[in-house]
Amino acid sequence: MKNYFQPRHLRIVDEALIIAEETVSDRFGLTCSFWKRHPFDVKSLLGAMSWERVGNGYAQLFRYAKKVCEKRRGSDNPLVFYRIVLNDQRIISTTESEAVFRMKPLLVYILIHELLHIVRFTRFCCHFDHYDRLREEKTVHKLTCKMINHLPIPGIHEVASHFQASA
Ligand SMILES: [Zn+2]
Repeated sequence: MKNYFQPRHLRIVDEALIIAEETVSDRFGLTCSFWKRHPFDVKSLLGAMSWERVGNGYAQLFRYAKKVCEKRRGSDNPLVFYRIVLNDQRIISTTESEAVFRMKPLLVYILIHELLHIVRFTRFCCHFDHYDRLREEKTVHKLTCKMINHLPIPGIHEVASHFQASA
């Protein structure tokens, strides 16, 4: 089970998720009802389904859609559901091998990045099934770097400058 998130890591995921959700909600003026209409959850690799593979990235976003005929009225019965699957192994090995990387700021970057994808899909800035992935990654990446830079989290500048350099 080494290289999978342990309870102490999952507590950091929870903290990072609160920061990420609040930061993205503030930036776009999103309320609770937005997230009710566009629900998502976050899983570690151990909690993911066998087909939810993450490749070599830090995380992978999945989108599950119901058929329109299965839709009932109301925002508590949305058509689409998103899942963010974190790549425990990559995140742990990065924070262990690169001393400048702390897990919390790295997770804040990763989660803001994935939430921005969700916001942009729901706002039709791009279409989930056919979009220019490279271009969208660049856009989301730049936006994420801008948003995390002024967050008062120890180690956030190191993460931001690392990702800015790789843009
Ligand atoms: Zn991305």
